[in-house]
Amino acid sequence: MPVLQHNRKIVTGALCASELRYRRLFESAYDGILIVDPESRKIIDVNPYLVEFLGYSYEEFIGKELFEIGLLKDEAASQAAFRLLQKSGYIRYDCLPLETKDGRRVDVEFVSNLYREDDKQVIQCNIRDISRRKKIEDTLSEARAQQARRSAELESLVDLRTAELRRSNSQLQMFAYSIAHDLRSPLQIIQGFSQLLIDDHAPNLNAEGQSYAKFVGNAAKQLDLMLSDLLAFSQASQLNIKLSPVALETVVEKALTNCAMEISEGNARIETSSPWPSVLAHEATLRQVLVNLIGNAVKFVRSGRPQVRLRAEERPGEIVRVWVEDNGIGIPAEFRERIFKVFQRLHTKKYAGTGIGLAIVQQGVERMGGRVGVESSPGKGSSFWFELAKAPTRAVKPKQKKETAR
Ligand code: ADP
Repeated sequence: MPVLQHNRKIVTGALCASELRYRRLFESAYDGILIVDPESRKIIDVNPYLVEFLGYSYEEFIGKELFEIGLLKDEAASQAAFRLLQKSGYIRYDCLPLETKDGRRVDVEFVSNLYREDDKQVIQCNIRDISRRKKIEDTLSEARAQQARRSAELESLVDLRTAELRRSNSQLQMFAYSIAHDLRSPLQIIQGFSQLLIDDHAPNLNAEGQSYAKFVGNAAKQLDLMLSDLLAFSQASQLNIKLSPVALETVVEKALTNCAMEISEGNARIETSSPWPSVLAHEATLRQVLVNLIGNAVKFVRSGRPQVRLRAEERPGEIVRVWVEDNGIGIPAEFRERIFKVFQRLHTKKYAGTGIGLAIVQQGVERMGGRVGVESSPGKGSSFWFELAKAPTRAVKPKQKKETAR
């Protein structure tokens, strides 16, 4: 056989095979396929899936225009779609509503291509049923909307409760403040008159009477101290706190100056270890925190010279932990949380105090966005710590380690 004739036969064979493959796809597809004549805009072929899907018979499809089988709204919409198709060779509707022969409404994805087959142009329309997908999407978006509604409701409830809490909290603070404030004047009268009894009327009292007068005076004095600390606690809670970068080293120095008397009375040895980073804090509050911790560290010692070490440690997450460590009496593990509460004291007899110092520490640190804690070995010492956010500025220039005996 001549080569040319042989090649033509191969090409014809290949064409037949591809046509067959196309036909099989057309017949078995799970998408609707329509073939339309672009000239007359009439359907010339339809696959079995679409016959089943729309409920028209094959014969009913043939010769119809798209709008007549519920695709595209009306003749005008159909004409516009054809113009667009002629112009761009392709149209696509992601979600087209369509009516089946028995009047059911279904949503389809509609893609139409204009292409050349032999010498003439044809249009192939692919129609995919997306009603299930659409239903899932609708359910999902309804669920999302419901969730958004619920979280909005929840948020407004939280806002409401927070506002209520703030109101009742500030009422309580004001109440505590006015109680502490108003109770102090009668208390000072008790204190003054019990002192007058001891000073001016001792000869008229026997030893028992004198010691009762002393008890009354001391109790009134202690109550006065407690009230004044309670006032300080309540005032600190009302303080408007604004955080800014604060050089720890400077505040530590200031706190040590504030504690100079206690340090020298106790002959305490204070060691400060650099480096001291800068933290985000409210300076006055931070100083008060340090004063209270240093005051306790030099106070709660059994015998011998108090040794206190102050240092800062940088921790992961841009956090700075400040340690105030002492060699004092220590705190048993079961009391380590309780001592931060108002009026909680473990050693009421031997050491002076009101039990508010650590409550002020905790409140101050928490208001600066930090947290506090303590580690301790009873009999050997305690290490109080608090954490604050590291200031985003450059750390304070490290100083030499120094040791001070004050
Ligand atoms: P105060 O010092 O006025 O008693 P605080 O609130 O400062 O009150 O402390 C509460 C209690 O915690 C103290 O009474 C003491 O029992 C215990 N405490 C605080 N600091 C120390 C410390 N450094 N070492 C041992 N115990 C301490």
